[in-house]
Amino acid sequence: MSHKLRVTVWNEFRHERNENHPASTLYPEGMHKVIADALNAAGGIDASCATLDEPEHGLTAEVLANTDVLIWWGHCAHGEVQDDIVARVHQRVLDGMGLVVLHSGHFSKIFQKLMGTCCNLKWREAAEKERLWVIERGHPIVEGIGEWVDIPHEEMYGEPFDIPAPDTLVLVSWFAGGEVFRSGCCYNRGHGKIFYFRPGHESYPTYYQAEVQKIIANGCRWAAPLCNGPKMVFGNAQPLEKLEPEG
Ligand code: ZN
Repeated sequence: MSHKLRVTVWNEFRHERNENHPASTLYPEGMHKVIADALNAAGGIDASCATLDEPEHGLTAEVLANTDVLIWWGHCAHGEVQDDIVARVHQRVLDGMGLVVLHSGHFSKIFQKLMGTCCNLKWREAAEKERLWVIERGHPIVEGIGEWVDIPHEEMYGEPFDIPAPDTLVLVSWFAGGEVFRSGCCYNRGHGKIFYFRPGHESYPTYYQAEVQKIIANGCRWAAPLCNGPKMVFGNAQPLEKLEPEG
């Protein structure tokens, strides 16, 4: 890309504004701000933010037209996201915008619509250790990452995770309580690339961890649209070669 990768970090931004919630202390300006700051420091990325309570959830047609990759974090307010905005994001993904869905975004309308399944899973909030194993070592999303990444305290997500089999499964998590989970899942939908990345419960400082920030930045770079990819052409087609009549 000649220009910097334009990333919009979308967050419902509700837990952080509840003074009784630990997220208000951990992320006083919102998780989106911490993620965007890390992306802007990563190099080659120009990250900005959008949140649920802005007009059109901050995702106007103009914002989306100028977004190469959208990051999505939601949890308690999935139902408040307007269907017409979901349809707008969905169309942009099919047209080539990358989408990085984080943690509880597994239950967002946009992820469910793109997956076509309910996307449910097991969970437990016990501040247990998570070990993310890299299982696709040549994949660009794990550039600069070691054999595994430990996160000291996380919410557990466990299988079954009701998603279609990923096109590429890059990371698998193990939790101290014994469960495993498909934590780094890549998909293609239309022209768009989608990366689901599991970590990031709002009560823990996960998004300050350097390896987590690196995987998110790598995920954005992987999901970037092609600048000049071929256009899909559908419908009735004239032959490219001269067709001889049979017999
Ligand atoms: Zn959570």
